[in-house]
Parts: sequence; C-alpha cells; structure tokens
Amino acid sequence: MPDLSPAAAAALRALPGPRCAYLYDTAALRARAASLRAALPPRTSFLYAVKANGHPDVVRTLAAVTDGLEVASGGELSLAVRAGARRIVFGGPAKTDAELAAALDAGALLNVESPYELRRLAALGARADICLRVNRATTAPSGSHTMTGTPTPFGIDEAQLPAVLADIPAGLRVIGFHLHAVSNNLDGAAHAAFLRDAITWSARTAAAYGVNLHVVNAGGGLGVDYRTGASIDLTPLSSVTVPDGVELILEPGRYLAADAGWYAAEVLDLKTTHGRTFAVLRGGTHHFRLPAAWGYSHPFDILPIDDWPHPYLRLSVTGTDVDAVGELCTPRDVLTRGRHVTHLRTGDLLVFGRAGAYGWDISHHDFLRHDPPTFLTL
Ligand SMILES: *Cc1c(COP(=O)(O)O)cnc(C)c1O
Repeated sequence: MPDLSPAAAAALRALPGPRCAYLYDTAALRARAASLRAALPPRTSFLYAVKANGHPDVVRTLAAVTDGLEVASGGELSLAVRAGARRIVFGGPAKTDAELAAALDAGALLNVESPYELRRLAALGARADICLRVNRATTAPSGSHTMTGTPTPFGIDEAQLPAVLADIPAGLRVIGFHLHAVSNNLDGAAHAAFLRDAITWSARTAAAYGVNLHVVNAGGGLGVDYRTGASIDLTPLSSVTVPDGVELILEPGRYLAADAGWYAAEVLDLKTTHGRTFAVLRGGTHHFRLPAAWGYSHPFDILPIDDWPHPYLRLSVTGTDVDAVGELCTPRDVLTRGRHVTHLRTGDLLVFGRAGAYGWDISHHDFLRHDPPTFLTL
C-alpha cells in the first residue's frame, strides 16, 4: 500500500472532527501514468477509464497525461469533454439515442456493442469510424470479472460477427475491434499473452471480412492486489509487437487511479462484544464499498490524532485485532475484519490506501454517472 505523504497526513489532520475524507494525490496519478507509458510497446496508446474515479480533479489530471479518456455513459462523456480530453472512446451496452448523438457530436470513437446499436446509429444519420466490441469465443485471462468467452451483455457474440460485418449501415466504417475482457488481472505475462492474442485475432478477423484494421482496443484490467500491496508486473507488456498501421489501445482504470487515493475515517467508538473488538467509524461501505462488494478485508493504517478536545474520556485498545465497521445500521457495513492494531484510540483515523479507484464512485450513489431515476409520489 502506498504510504500517506506528510502533506496528505497534515491535510487530514487539519480537517474538523469527526473526520471523514477521500484524499486524491494528483502527483501520484501523474507518476503512475508516466510509469505505465514507459512500459508500453510502440504504437500503443492508453486511455483512462473514467468509471474508476470520476472526480473532476482526477479526470482532469489524467486527461492531461494519458492519450485520452474512455467513457461509458452520457454523464462520463460530458465529464470527459469538460476535462479537455484529447480523445474520447465511448463504450457500454446500454447507450441511449441521446448518448449516441452526444458522442458523435463530441467526436468520440464508439465501441458499438450490438447490431441494433448499429441500426440506431444509422438512424441518427451517423457518418463515423467505429469499433465493434466483440465477445470472443474463447475465455479471457483470469481476474476478478470475466466479460468475454461467456454469456454477458457486452459486445457482439463472435459467432454473429460475420453477419454483422456483412451488413454495416452506410455511413459507418469499422476500423477495429474492442476486446475488453478482464478486470484486475495480476499476471503480467498472462496480460501480455492476452494482448498478443487480441492483435492476432483482430488481424485475422479483419483480413477474413475485409476490414481495414486500424485499432485493436484491449480494454482495461491491469490489476492491483489489495491484500498484499502488489501490482501487476508490466514488464512483459513491452515485448508485445503491434503491427505497422495498427494502434493498440489500453483502457486502464484501476491501475492508474487506485494508488492515488486514500479513504480516511475517524474512530467514533471502540467496543468489545461477544469477544470481538469493533472500531466504529464516521463513514463506511456507503462511502467505500469495494471491500464489501468483493468480500475481502481492506488493510488500513492508523493516523494518530493527538489532539483531544472533548470533556469525556478517550477510549483506547492495545495489541488487539479489530473489525473496522461503518456507521450504517447493518451488520454488513464492514471494511476490514480482524486487523491487528498495536494502539488505537477513539479520535484516531483509519486510513485505507488504494482507495483511488472504484472507491467513492462505486459506492452506488454515483457509479458511472448515469442519470438517476425519476422519483414519483402518488
Ligand atoms: C471498466 C472498464 C475499463 C477499465 O477497467 P479496469 O479494470 O479498471 O482497468 C476499461 N474498458 C472498459 C470497456 C470497461 O468497462
């Protein structure tokens, strides 16, 4: 886990209590983007997948140091336009007509996910180069989610691709394929093999169906290990060969943003019941849902807050395992179970590192920035 910088610790300490904050470090974002760029082979671009963290400062920072932004909703699209993205790629299986029109207006490259979407684009009078997202016949490398080689709503079934390619509406030109297949892959060699296979498959398919191949978009999926602090080894990626005239696009979200964010929550109470000790936090899974969603314990560090302005006794525990739980009245509001602490007091902060990707954003209130439903009261 990345350590909290002295400046970050000072910023958290300067907050009024009870403290609860997300902290994003834009220098860490830039450093991560630079190290990724250095690891990629020639003719490879990388776009930041906005869904990992749509905070405007994060998006603006990454727009400036990546080759562009990948978006999957109208909300993300307008965020990307405002952030000054030099290039926008728009994917997702549930684009509305209004979102398709806005994407065309913004000059975004569309990853089209179904034959029906092609028809809808044509009905909008689209004249554009597009990529087709394909759900390939074979499975992807292992990771936390698998999007391809298995029944999912994503992309066009490879078996249907010949028919789709034979019937591309006038005005649209297929220039490549989008093959995003995996999330949180921790195996660099396996990811390099996946990229090679994506390129080979795309070249073969393009040749077979008369597509002039310009783009192979392999999506995101570069992983980080929340329990150990390790990240995918990018070294094997540099030896992938991208043919002349073809651009390989990667769309990492997690890898770019995870280590640039921290979630900090103050300990409001410490109690032992039925033999377990709980640190009850100002915060919880409604802010940081990732550990509950994936069913693991997210490590934390303690930021001691020595100032104690209250008239009542300060509680502390020493040399014990604690469960870090949130303020929601449900036993599922758990961020960490059984983490050993040498000393923890009410008023101290638990600081959860690697919270820069899929932290606040997937905590459901704002995930993917789709429009909210209408609330009707009769
Ligand atoms: C989610 C997503 C990404 C980013 O995935 P990470 O695992 O965060 O790298 C990229 N492309 C598409 C199409 C996605 O849906």
